Amino acid sequence: MTNHRDNSLKEQILKLKKERNAVILSHNYQRGEVQDIADFVGDSLELSQKAARTEADVIVFCGVHFMAETAAILNPHRTVLLPDAHAGCPMANMITAAQLRQKKRELPGATVVTYINSTAAVKAESDYCCTSANGVKVVNSIDNKEIIFVPDQYLGDFISRRTGRKMTLWPGYCPTHMKILPEDIRRKKAEYPQAKAVVHPECRPEVIALADEVLSTGGIIRYARRPEVSELIVGTELGIIHRLKRENPDKLFIPVSEQAVCPNMKLITLEKVLWSLEEMAPAVSIPDDIRLKAKAAVERMLAVG
Ligand code: SF4
Repeated sequence: MTNHRDNSLKEQILKLKKERNAVILSHNYQRGEVQDIADFVGDSLELSQKAARTEADVIVFCGVHFMAETAAILNPHRTVLLPDAHAGCPMANMITAAQLRQKKRELPGATVVTYINSTAAVKAESDYCCTSANGVKVVNSIDNKEIIFVPDQYLGDFISRRTGRKMTLWPGYCPTHMKILPEDIRRKKAEYPQAKAVVHPECRPEVIALADEVLSTGGIIRYARRPEVSELIVGTELGIIHRLKRENPDKLFIPVSEQAVCPNMKLITLEKVLWSLEEMAPAVSIPDDIRLKAKAAVERMLAVG
């Protein structure tokens, strides 16, 4: 709900944003009030594309650390601010560059595909990045039979089934999407028999098996706009419901589980956005040797689409 305090914060943010020539990017999982102040709201792929094309001097990234890092990889001459330095992603931290190097030694010659939910150091050890929106396309574009996929075993399993390609999967996972259980989706389907169920590919395979569609958050946003959709069961982080309702006020959106809240995404608040613009901190930067290697993996992804 918007109140007087939020309005005054918003005015201060907009004023400072103009002075700094800043752009505010927000992930679909951010708090509603943060999404509302952003110039652009999207999924990881859309945000990395925006970051690649911005003319702004400053990028305020309302998301988690790896997303701000991706913006910094693509924009070494711009200041990238992450309004809370502690907004990390537990999945991204489930593999280190040293662990990936070890895996590559075990499987020499393999092509490494890394989900964008990873640290810059891990991206730097990778051949391709991918997102949940373009993972199938990226893997289909690779000729090599031997593929290592990190860090999300569930997205990897989903891509593997869709492409028919066997991949070596790293056992990482998203703790937020893990909370969505098959019984949750069964219950909602029984309660709302007219509604289709869409879930994110970070969900467990048992949940994916019960869904009508498996889509990235950007894909869910587009699916919800279809004229034939009036009720939708949504299996991903709860922040997306704000945008779905805002864009489709006459439709009903039913979260599969109220438990699917990413505490890291919620660390960004309007106050922190304002403070970051005032202090031009916390800024995210990446050493050039890592940045250039990571950039090559991100650019190979962007070239695939
Ligand atoms: S929702 Fe999951 S994958 Fe996304 S930032 Fe949170 S923990 Fe990481």
